[in-house]
Amino acid sequence: MLTLDKITSQQAIELEDKHGAHNYHPLPVVLSKGKGVHVWDVEGKKYYDFLSAYSAVNQGHCHPKIVNAMSRQAETLTLTSRAFHNDMLGKFEKYITEYFSFDKVLPMNTGAEAVETAIKIARKWAYEVKGVEEREAQIIVAENNFHGRTTTVISFSNDENARKNFGPFTPGFIKIPYDDIEALENAIKSSKNVAGFLIEPIQGEAGVYTPADDYMSKAKALCNKHNVLFMADEIQTGIARTGSLLAVCGNCSCENHCERQATYSRPDILILGKALSGGAYPVSAVLADNAIMNVIKPGQHGSTFGGNPIAAAVGMAALEVVKEENLALNSRVLGKLFRSELNKYIEESSIVKLVRGRGLLNAIVINDSEDSSTAWDICIALRDNGLLAKPTHGNIIRFAPPLVMNEEQLLDCVSIIIKTLKQFEK
Ligand SMILES: *Cc1c(COP(=O)(O)O)cnc(C)c1O
Repeated sequence: MLTLDKITSQQAIELEDKHGAHNYHPLPVVLSKGKGVHVWDVEGKKYYDFLSAYSAVNQGHCHPKIVNAMSRQAETLTLTSRAFHNDMLGKFEKYITEYFSFDKVLPMNTGAEAVETAIKIARKWAYEVKGVEEREAQIIVAENNFHGRTTTVISFSNDENARKNFGPFTPGFIKIPYDDIEALENAIKSSKNVAGFLIEPIQGEAGVYTPADDYMSKAKALCNKHNVLFMADEIQTGIARTGSLLAVCGNCSCENHCERQATYSRPDILILGKALSGGAYPVSAVLADNAIMNVIKPGQHGSTFGGNPIAAAVGMAALEVVKEENLALNSRVLGKLFRSELNKYIEESSIVKLVRGRGLLNAIVINDSEDSSTAWDICIALRDNGLLAKPTHGNIIRFAPPLVMNEEQLLDCVSIIIKTLKQFEK
């Protein structure tokens, strides 16, 4: 059987090229195994994973607890649809809402679906609670956002590559510069019809743009004051990635779970995905309190797979791992170490301009023109040296290893990265 035959990297790449849509441009490496912070290619070469599937694999590859929960559930009951109840969904809903301190959750599968769900909830809330006139609701978003790939979500992207020839687009979005409180205030005041402000606490895809420390709390206060929903897309930044359970926890020093709820910028709508399953399965979720979530009534929104028993089992296990293994603290400590080690190198580097980020969501900016291939070439050299990372927009390389990394491994990775960068110094 074809699926059991061993193939070479070259063959695997050729198969994808011939039979798959060309909607990605992967780094030429073909992976066939993963464990913790490592992945292996089909020829058996071992790499550090410094992308973690865009922060979906925070808990490390094939975490035994998550894999066990998944396989046990897969042998018992996989899918009922929401036409019937199942005995896992309610347990998951209780667990995740207590974990993040919200009244209710609406489970979906992918990140983009969760963003769509959040937009629908915010619009419905605007009409039915806030009293916005029908069809007039607006949602404020930031320039250079990334919230997924559906037609509505790309409607408010400003990545031409993501938009070109996919129109017509969904109206009802106001775009403002990121990390600009005045622009937010002006946008909120410009219309009575603003339902929500949809924001990434750190812009991951755009190149790990980290806003001012008080941006999120000021944005939240403005939203509160003007009866606008503060909607945090934590699909990439959440679940311990940035050194706290959520990035909106900011510089809060609590361990995994936020005890200072009064001071953290608690969103009205929280959007999660990616690491909510530890990369084992597509699981996403939208969390909100009753006053918001109760606008959704039977038949008004749904998904065949959303909230299925496997997703519920995997989601609980994945969140338990984050607490049991203190991943937020580890991410915070190792992230500081990573940036300080790289900063020492950057002082004397002509090829790297800067490193930025929070926790283990970091990026370096390469000192070259946006359209040069330097970042790509560096990623190829990193691959050859045993570490996998991918350029993001322009000449920026994101570094986001699994959060189960230890200090020794991180220092090993830093030396691989520096050794590689040295090959590119002029
Ligand atoms: C990845 C991502 C999404 C989209 O998630 P998918 O599962 O790919 O649909 C949305 N928002 C942010 C911030 C993301 O990083």
